[in-house]
Amino acid sequence: MNKKILSLVLAILLCISLFACTGNTESTEPTTDSTAPSAEYVEASTEAQSDVLEWVQCKEYKLDEDVPVKNIILMIGDGMGENIIKNAEIVKGSPYATSYMPYSCYVGTDSLSGTTDSAAASTAISCGVKTLNKYIGMDAEETPVETIIEFAKARDMKAGLVATHIIPHATPAGMVAHVNYRDLFNNITKQMIKAEVDVMFGGGREYTDTEKMQARIKSGDYSYIERAEELSTLEKGKKAIGAFAYFDMTSNVNPSLTTMTQKALELLEGDEGFFLMVEASHIDIFEAQEDMDSTMIEMQAFDKCIDYTLRWAEEHPGTLVLVTADHETGGVIVPESGLPEDVNNDCFTSEGEHTSADVKLFAAGAQAGNLFTEYKIENTDIALIMRKALNDTYGEKPVTLLN
Ligand SMILES: [Zn+2]
Repeated sequence: MNKKILSLVLAILLCISLFACTGNTESTEPTTDSTAPSAEYVEASTEAQSDVLEWVQCKEYKLDEDVPVKNIILMIGDGMGENIIKNAEIVKGSPYATSYMPYSCYVGTDSLSGTTDSAAASTAISCGVKTLNKYIGMDAEETPVETIIEFAKARDMKAGLVATHIIPHATPAGMVAHVNYRDLFNNITKQMIKAEVDVMFGGGREYTDTEKMQARIKSGDYSYIERAEELSTLEKGKKAIGAFAYFDMTSNVNPSLTTMTQKALELLEGDEGFFLMVEASHIDIFEAQEDMDSTMIEMQAFDKCIDYTLRWAEEHPGTLVLVTADHETGGVIVPESGLPEDVNNDCFTSEGEHTSADVKLFAAGAQAGNLFTEYKIENTDIALIMRKALNDTYGEKPVTLLN
């Protein structure tokens, strides 16, 4: 009899607790449905909740121009053609951060293969040579060409790479490595460590977390972290690698692009000067999937990051901020109505392929008004512009290949 009563009481208690748990789950946590629209996106937990799903409100930035270029921050929106910026402005309802950068021109992006891929484009921007698609840091004859990070290192500057794709992906790879095939990720990671890139934040634990690579990271005297919460443990003056995802970092993986950039700038800032490349890697990926909502969230994240960077540069005279794209993706058109609801998947016209459309280059900060005068330049000219600016400050040095 006592056992029966006990069983009954336990059964009732179980029912109550189950009901309470279910109710709790439904009331406080969003459903995690893989087919849910991208509006379910959650910004990095390191940022205030008020930032979630809100566009940053930009303002006029006051960057000192009449000083030598000490630091260069090169920001690349992968696949960020001119029209996706215009569409972002329609959705945002106010100008994109690049609109506040006082100088701009068009940039031709074709490689020796025709319409470029990210590898040949990154090589052009970093090394100043047109090459074949899939090539990283070498010309069409497979001769290694000095990358912008090798150029900076030869001048005793610090160097950093921030991306939301895997760290050895094409765009960051072209800033430092030399390979004739972009997907040699282990080889590229090795070269990045050997070149002593001071800060590397992104995804790609698949390549950093192996026993062999961990040994290289250790002997290279790097701090190595895998979680956003560990960013605060990194010490200034020590090289750092943060691999925050096994493969690439989708938008809701911590830390955000802005948080990574913020930390990279904190670590790199110093008397030596630095070159930092920041890539919003997933604009291209969602354009290729013809997914406008997700593309807009990536554009929003990049807008925030550019805004942060321009405000940082206001406080750090001698910083040149460049924003560009490696190529256009998606053959994006701007809806004639100019209405936010018409910025949708119908705006993609190239079946997700890259196109040869010109992209834009925006400049602000140190010497920004003296970089280019033409209406249109080639992507290789960006390499020459950065080299001239750094030579004027740090002097000419012999060509240096670190790998
Ligand atoms: Zn690309």
